[in-house]
Amino acid sequence: MLYRVIDRDDLPSLVAAFMERYEVIAPVKRGEGHAFSAVADAADIVLDYPTTVASPKKYLLPAVETLFEFDAEGNAVTDYTDEVRPRVLFGVHACDINAIMNLNSVFDDARYPDPYYQAHRAATLIVGVGCMPQAHCFCNLMDAEEARPGYDLFLTDIGERYLVSIGSVVGANILEGACEVREATDEDRIAFRAVTRARQEAFNGDIPDIQEIPMLMDAFHEDAFWDELGGRCLSCNACANVCPTCYCFDIRDTLDPGGATGRRERVWDACTSPQFAMVAGGHNFRPTAAQRVRHRMYHKLNGFMAKYDRSLCVGCGRCATACKVDISPIEVLRFFERKGAEDAE
Ligand code: SF4
Ligand code: SF4
Repeated sequence: MLYRVIDRDDLPSLVAAFMERYEVIAPVKRGEGHAFSAVADAADIVLDYPTTVASPKKYLLPAVETLFEFDAEGNAVTDYTDEVRPRVLFGVHACDINAIMNLNSVFDDARYPDPYYQAHRAATLIVGVGCMPQAHCFCNLMDAEEARPGYDLFLTDIGERYLVSIGSVVGANILEGACEVREATDEDRIAFRAVTRARQEAFNGDIPDIQEIPMLMDAFHEDAFWDELGGRCLSCNACANVCPTCYCFDIRDTLDPGGATGRRERVWDACTSPQFAMVAGGHNFRPTAAQRVRHRMYHKLNGFMAKYDRSLCVGCGRCATACKVDISPIEVLRFFERKGAEDAE
């Protein structure tokens, strides 16, 4: 990996260089929190932001996307109509970069490649930024606290300057064209190590570090714990909407008022929704909230692992913040911790 150092004062020039060719999406202050949004002024960007309510996923997998339009009278179908803009996601935390890597695995599947996602992804650059963990962050337990591949540049604040990890030629060219770039010195490396250690120590130690999570998910598949979680679940789908790795969608055909023209749209769906597993004839394969919550947690902590050898959950903690009744993978980890304590008695 190639590292360079830029001064903090160089950041506006870097953003301006991206703006010449890309729409810049970055974290900005929004109400009490922060959100990813298109920016026109580098001064609006907040790089030391706490986890945003929603992830930047929507820029690769929009919540509603028109796949094509049709004209029944003219027997005509247009091609993919949504505009794919060259974009840079600027200031993405490591967990969200790992989440995008997981989405890439799904939508780049050799058997069923998804041209819509791929078009967005191919047009998108990613500039990561180091962060300090919040109370609900557990990316360190999901092996997602570092972004190894998956970015063009990654900035770590080491005090009045950034250590920049370079991940692509495009990123390197923009960086070198926009900033006074210099080699990292030993002092920079030592500062980087101090920042990394401080971050590691800032993770919430109350969230249990559980080994062999996929095996435990199987072992406790029938436990009453899931009924207890299901009894609380409001089926509101907030968890799925904020999650950077939920990628289920539905397809709907929408007719214009005249009935002759319309469009096929892809819309986000969620396995916590009561209708998600309902099929023609009215049968529902997961009729209870307990089954739906358990299914979601299984996919996050077990099922994806079986296919891709890594957890789908990246430990961003957003669902733990969004859920009004405290249902999240953290609760599952705590359950396994209690079970371990019972076994030890
Ligand atoms: S787990 Fe929480 S956020 Fe998710 S659907 Fe149930 S109540 Fe809503
Ligand atoms: S399941 Fe929750 S903690 Fe895990 S990636 Fe999704 S929102 Fe983040």
